[in-house]
Amino acid sequence: MAIQYIYPEFEVVRNADRCIGCRVCERQCANEVHRFDPESGKMMADESKCVNCHRCVSLCPVRALKIVKSDHTFRPNFNWSGDAINQVYQQAGTGGVLLSSMGNPNPYPIYWDKLLINASQVTNPSIDPLREPMETKTFLGKKTPCIRRDGQGRLIPERSPRLELSTPILFSAMSYGSISYNAHASLARAAKALGIYYNTGEGGLHKDFYEYGPNTIVQVASGRFGVHKDYLNTGAAIEIKIGQGAKPGIGGHLPGAKIVEDVSKTRMIPQGTDAISPAPHHDIYSIEDLRQLVFSLKEAVNYEKPVIVKVAAVHNIAAIASGIARSGADIIAIDGFRGGTGAAPTRIRDNIGIPIELALASVDQRLREEGIRGNVSIVVGGSIRSSADVVKAVALGADAVYIGTAALLSLGCHLCRSCHAGKCNWGIATQRPDLVKRLNPEIGTQRLINLVHAWTHEIKEMMGGMGINSIEALRGNRLMLRGVGLNDRELSILGVKHAGE
Ligand code: SF4
Ligand code: SF4
Repeated sequence: MAIQYIYPEFEVVRNADRCIGCRVCERQCANEVHRFDPESGKMMADESKCVNCHRCVSLCPVRALKIVKSDHTFRPNFNWSGDAINQVYQQAGTGGVLLSSMGNPNPYPIYWDKLLINASQVTNPSIDPLREPMETKTFLGKKTPCIRRDGQGRLIPERSPRLELSTPILFSAMSYGSISYNAHASLARAAKALGIYYNTGEGGLHKDFYEYGPNTIVQVASGRFGVHKDYLNTGAAIEIKIGQGAKPGIGGHLPGAKIVEDVSKTRMIPQGTDAISPAPHHDIYSIEDLRQLVFSLKEAVNYEKPVIVKVAAVHNIAAIASGIARSGADIIAIDGFRGGTGAAPTRIRDNIGIPIELALASVDQRLREEGIRGNVSIVVGGSIRSSADVVKAVALGADAVYIGTAALLSLGCHLCRSCHAGKCNWGIATQRPDLVKRLNPEIGTQRLINLVHAWTHEIKEMMGGMGINSIEALRGNRLMLRGVGLNDRELSILGVKHAGE
């Protein structure tokens, strides 16, 4: 008999008094955890397959189920945690690289939680957003360096192409293939209704979504999947993806099982083949090379659309951003090390990159010092969890934020972190038709709209509390932040004072 090295991480607790044997849990679980045993007439569970996605818990009509963390434990050892031991067992069994999904779950510092927002008291009155206008409209792109007039005193229009957002929030890149058709439909429709943008990721643009082009950012990644002239011209902006927070320095890999007919057409690759995007762009080895690609893409769209360069937050991010700002790009997107992904090697996800808060502060500072901050807008992502994170990001210097995981949570994601398996029980990170249809795009759209409306309202309330009536006045206004429990070095990089100062 084979030795079981790895024990189930979760335990399925079924209340036998409540269970009516309806078998909903069995039908709903794509991981095949639940099954009816005709001999005993009871429901059984194979807990080794459970990923704790809560689909069964949510749909059990009599609330008979709960999933708990297994109380099986190794002898306590700070050095060798249970996860570390299990991962060695797993690799000793398979000889393979460990894969994970979604963002880095490890307890690194979350600087958003160590920054507090200011509020007006007595001398500088706060503003009531319900009674007074508050502006959250945001423009992304190069700033006009100076206003010039012709001989008759008329303004000479010199505006670079830019994006206009009703609120400083965009949906971050998630490719069709890594997420489902219905998830993409929800994001596209919500972006249109909200007056913001969603992002194709590196998977091309499904023909059904061309109508949402004015609210779409089309991505050009190293694999060039689905990139052609119509694609570039359909989007409102083009994003060159150099790196991603969850996996800096490596390429992407979408397993062949997810390359179903429609995905293969959209990506322009054969059905069933793995979609592997290389780690580098094979035509980019310097800022000059990047500049060539930026201008090739601008040429392809008649210089009518802004170009974004997306990079992962890494050690030398300020210098990298300075190069990008000089490359002709209009927007820099920086993805922090807690950013989500459909699949990444666990070691890469959990150990590479830096927190977005520090990256953002140092990039904004560096671009200001070099006098080129107006060359580019800065968009940051990688674990923006709430409107408070948005406000803190803007005060640290961001023009807008990308939200990915929060958007997926709105669609029903339960952060089970098993997207790479392609069996998402919530119809999001899957291409299986029976699972995809579980996500109703109309409901998904409305939930995304609700989320962004709620956050925008909260942003206005926080701005009003600070006595600020325009997001522009908050941008880079680090005086509106104070640190708590941070050392001098951290405060200096963030450019904020400690609480009490
Ligand atoms: S869904 Fe609930 S009631 Fe139905 S079989 Fe499963 S545990 Fe029992
Ligand atoms: S998208 Fe689906 S598979 Fe991925 S973490 Fe969310 S619920 Fe799990």
